[in-house]
This record gives sequence, structure tokens and C-alpha cells, in this order.
Amino acid sequence: MVHSNCHTHTVFCDGKNTPEEMLLAAIDKGFTCLGFSFHSPMTPLADWAILKEDLPVYTAEIRRLQSLYGDRIEILHGVELDRDYCGVDVADYDYVIAAVHQLTKGDLHFDVDASPEILSEGCDMLFGSDWLALAADYYDRVADFTCRIRPTIVAHLDLIEKFNEDNALFDSGDPAYQKLACGCIDKVLAACPDVLFEVNTGAMYRCGKKQPYPAPFLLRHLYERGAKVIVTADAHTTDALDFAFDKALAAIRAAGFDTVYELRRVDGKAKAVPIQLK
Ligand SMILES: [Zn+2]
Ligand SMILES: [Zn+2]
Repeated sequence: MVHSNCHTHTVFCDGKNTPEEMLLAAIDKGFTCLGFSFHSPMTPLADWAILKEDLPVYTAEIRRLQSLYGDRIEILHGVELDRDYCGVDVADYDYVIAAVHQLTKGDLHFDVDASPEILSEGCDMLFGSDWLALAADYYDRVADFTCRIRPTIVAHLDLIEKFNEDNALFDSGDPAYQKLACGCIDKVLAACPDVLFEVNTGAMYRCGKKQPYPAPFLLRHLYERGAKVIVTADAHTTDALDFAFDKALAAIRAAGFDTVYELRRVDGKAKAVPIQLK
């Protein structure tokens, strides 16, 4: 049903394939649209983000692909913009995916999605082992950043759940935790009612997570608040481009939705187009 993906990484950041390899794989899969979304340059430097000095070459490559393959597939030039981004003018891109990957306090910082060990150590170091304090800080950052930049898409809303399969790290059924996460959605929707929340299968491919982001209780809350959702692969390799889209759509239906959105190139611009779920 969904023959597009707008969350795609390449060798220019932490992906494994070139933009052209990703595009040819998307054409092979019968995609109507592929959106490229590099990790914005970061301060401090992050080894998974693009280097500022590589941006002109990267953009030239996406433009080359657009002129070479633009009659076979729609191609969008987007950015996954981290809260701690630098050196990017969002006006240069067709769409923006807003993300929080790091938590910081003073000079200390860590990636929440690097490994369970780094996440646990970060919780000990920055939050005195208090997972609710970590969650409060994370969801505050997501809400504040999203309201500030008003992106097209909110990335992997509950990224701190990446390694929390079966509540391995903290209790995601705790009403206090759920209140923080749902409160984030409410703040975002108050400022950006048309923003798309991605239902992201990236961690299902990369580390065997059983369900996409966000968790079912959050999808339900999104549905009850009238939010819009989009399915994305957060693909770092060609074979991940539409990974588990069937499971993502099943989760979306189970939450009550009868519509999902996809990004398409319409009159040269990125546009959220509804797809009626069968
Ligand atoms: Zn991300
Ligand atoms: Zn990503």
C-alpha cells in the first residue's frame, strides 16, 4: 500500500549504501517516491552525522540523481535535523524530520540509541539512575525542538524505547512515564497540528525490535488527538527500504486510524498525501 519512504540514510552519514544504490533499489521495489534524509551536522561532532564540508557534494549528488532518474521516480531532498544540529539552513531542503538523539548536561552528553549500555550509563551519569527523569528530559527536548522548528515530520517519537523490549530497562507501562510521552504529543500538536508523526520500522530491521516506534499506547493517543501518521523505514541499507511496512500498517490500523500519509513530490515540492487504509 505504501510505495515510498522519506527516511533514508546513505554513506554520506551512517548508511551503508550510496544514494544511487538506494535509489535503484527503490525503483526495483516499484516505489513512486524516495526521500533522502541525511543526519544533520552536529555539535559536538557525531560519527553518525554528515560532515559540514561534505554537504555541497552530497547535495550535488542528489541533484544529479534527480536529473538522471527523475522521470522514473519522485526524488525528495530532505534532512533529519537533530536538536543539536549546526551548519544547515532548513530552507534548502524539501522537508525536515525533527529528531532528538542525544541527551546533554553541561559538557556531558550521550546518544540514547547507540547501545543499551550507553543508554544505561547515561541514565546513571546524567540522571542519577532515575529513568523517569531521563524520560522527562527527553520528551521535553522533543516537544521544545519540534515546536521551535515546526518540521514536516517528528522522528521516532519514543527513541528511548529502542532497547527497552519487554521493559528491559524501565517500565513503559508506568502511568507516570506514559503521561510524559503523551504530554509531549499534546504540546507538539498544540503548536503544529498538521505535523506528521512517523511510524518508524528502523529498529525492527536493525536490532530486532518487535514493534515500530511509537509504542501502541502512543499510536492510540495520536489517533485520539487527530494526529497524522506516516510510515518510514529509517533505512540505512537497500534491503531495509520497506522493511516491516505491513507490520507498521497493522499497528496503525489497530490504533484506529483509517488513513496514513506519504510524502510525494507535487509541483516540485514535498506534499503530504493521504492514503486510505483498506
Ligand atoms: Zn534518527
Ligand atoms: Zn534516521
